[in-house]
Amino acid sequence: MAEHGADNKSSGGEARGAAGGRAFGPTGMLFSAVGLGTWRLEADERAAAAALRRGIEEGANHIDTAEMYGNGGVERIVGKAIRGMRDRVFLVSKVLPCNASFANTLLACERSLKNLATDHIDVYLLHWRERAPLEETFRAFDKLLQDGKIRAFGVSNFDVKDLEEAIRIAGPGRIACNQVLYHLKERAAEFEVLPWCAAHGIPVVAYSPLGEGSLASDPALAGIAAASNAAPCQIALNFLIRCKGVFAIPKSSNIRHVIENIQAEALTLTERDIERIETAFPARRKTSLPML
Ligand code: NAP
Repeated sequence: MAEHGADNKSSGGEARGAAGGRAFGPTGMLFSAVGLGTWRLEADERAAAAALRRGIEEGANHIDTAEMYGNGGVERIVGKAIRGMRDRVFLVSKVLPCNASFANTLLACERSLKNLATDHIDVYLLHWRERAPLEETFRAFDKLLQDGKIRAFGVSNFDVKDLEEAIRIAGPGRIACNQVLYHLKERAAEFEVLPWCAAHGIPVVAYSPLGEGSLASDPALAGIAAASNAAPCQIALNFLIRCKGVFAIPKSSNIRHVIENIQAEALTLTERDIERIETAFPARRKTSLPML
């Protein structure tokens, strides 16, 4: 595989990545269903870099990061970790809402590119919505697209009302994904956001898919997992990604966990497993989309 990195211009937005990756909405890219989250990875840089590299070798090609994480420090860890492997991954990063004006989005992207030591971000997201007008942020995203600095753009923590506005501004077929809080103990996204995104061909990326780690030691999940001869986190992830439009980005700086998480895609939950999960972790509707 040809490499391209910080000082090596890449050739286009063609679909690359893990064998068996899934179409990532309108982007033409094939993303692994289980990716690699990076929030709080700065706690142990060496372990973080080793975990990311091993994850890529095991087939995860979707790295999720953000300018917010470690105040740019996590992007820098990612940049170093993927050195020599840039063409094997899709990089997703996010602009903070306080930087989401037209001019500041352009500046934020430049900083992220420098931190990541790359010439482009594959999918650039608005981390969550605040006061900056969406028109301005999307105008900046369009400029970044034209300049080849990003390959696609998307949103995060968008409820249906925000999504409707986003599509009205950006036009159909342009929002690459909506990244939302979604795990077995927080299934509110299933009521409106998931069906809306499915109907509009927008992938949903489940963040904190392990309930920030709490599902690893959940007794009910442990029982279900034992009956299936799988690890609890594998059941938790497979339940989400069994729907083809849903991707998950668990974070781990532990190589054993990283491998376990990636292998979750190979599981097939039985109807009995699903019934047991539905009983132990019922979906509850909320008045608005929850976020961390
Ligand atoms: P998470 O992925 O649900 O859980 C992470 C925790 O689970 C870590 O403590 C990790 O510990 C543990 N873990 C991972 N795999 C495990 C396994 N197989 N067995 C046992 N424990 C395991 O939580 P998260 O980091 O909040 O969310 C994931 C990613 O989503 C973030 O890193 C970030 O990239 C993204 N995110 C986005 C937003 C947003 O607003 N868009 C918000 C939050 C998060 P070890 O490291 O020891 O394995």
